[in-house]
Amino acid sequence: DVSHGPILYLEDVTVSFDGFKALNKLTLSIDEGELRCIIGPNGAGKTTMMDVITGKTRCQTGKVFLGQTIDLRRMDEPSIARIGIGRKFQKPTVFASHPVWENLELAMKTDKGWWPSLRSRFTRPAQARVEEILSLLNLEQDAFRLAGDLSHGQKQRLEIGMLLMQQPRLLLLDEPAAGITDEETMELAALLNGLRGSCSMMVVEHDMDFVGALAGDTGKVTVMAEGSVLAEGTLDTVRANDTVIESYLGR
Ligand code: ADP
Repeated sequence: DVSHGPILYLEDVTVSFDGFKALNKLTLSIDEGELRCIIGPNGAGKTTMMDVITGKTRCQTGKVFLGQTIDLRRMDEPSIARIGIGRKFQKPTVFASHPVWENLELAMKTDKGWWPSLRSRFTRPAQARVEEILSLLNLEQDAFRLAGDLSHGQKQRLEIGMLLMQQPRLLLLDEPAAGITDEETMELAALLNGLRGSCSMMVVEHDMDFVGALAGDTGKVTVMAEGSVLAEGTLDTVRANDTVIESYLGR
């Protein structure tokens, strides 16, 4: 694999809430095109880290960079979304009363901003992009169904597709496999694995089978605990790490 340097770089990031350090000198970097799984017990700071990257929460100290030059600490939440950091929260949010294809079209990045413009017209380039994403999502057969009628797993894929319409540089996904069937979990893993290389991804996940399907034998997994990185390596390596075992069982 050719490395293109980090797409995301955090150094010594600290976030305190009334003296309690939700992030404590967190240092982490993700390579361009990488799919990085983040695991760790509840309260480890995973959500706070994503909040800092997306500008929702300010860190008191540390560096937060997209690529080599974009200082995310200087930017607000809408600007960070606009420069290509897409975030998916746990619960899927789709336009339930609109067909699947229209959900994708509405999510297309417009000149006016990153959020779907209800006034946008269905242009030829948009149509080509919608068809491309439908095929990627394996939702071609469902293009004309209402998004609200999809299964939970299909909604999760659709929402990822909506983010992809904006051609993000980095996707942050919070437990995308929570509450979906085993079959859909593997379909989601196949989708994300297929995006590897064209889009960098950070996936926070508890489902170890899913993490295994994403990381494979060689992918890097980051274990967070108490606001910083506890261990980093292949899934097998971190799972065999005594400190990691302790941090999971010690609670
Ligand atoms: P995770 O996502 O890994 O479960 P979080 O980032 O949600 O961890 O939380 C890390 C710690 O920070 C937790 O102990 C949580 O209670 C605390 N925390 C998170 N947000 C706030 C907040 N807005 N005010 C006070 N404490 C917070």
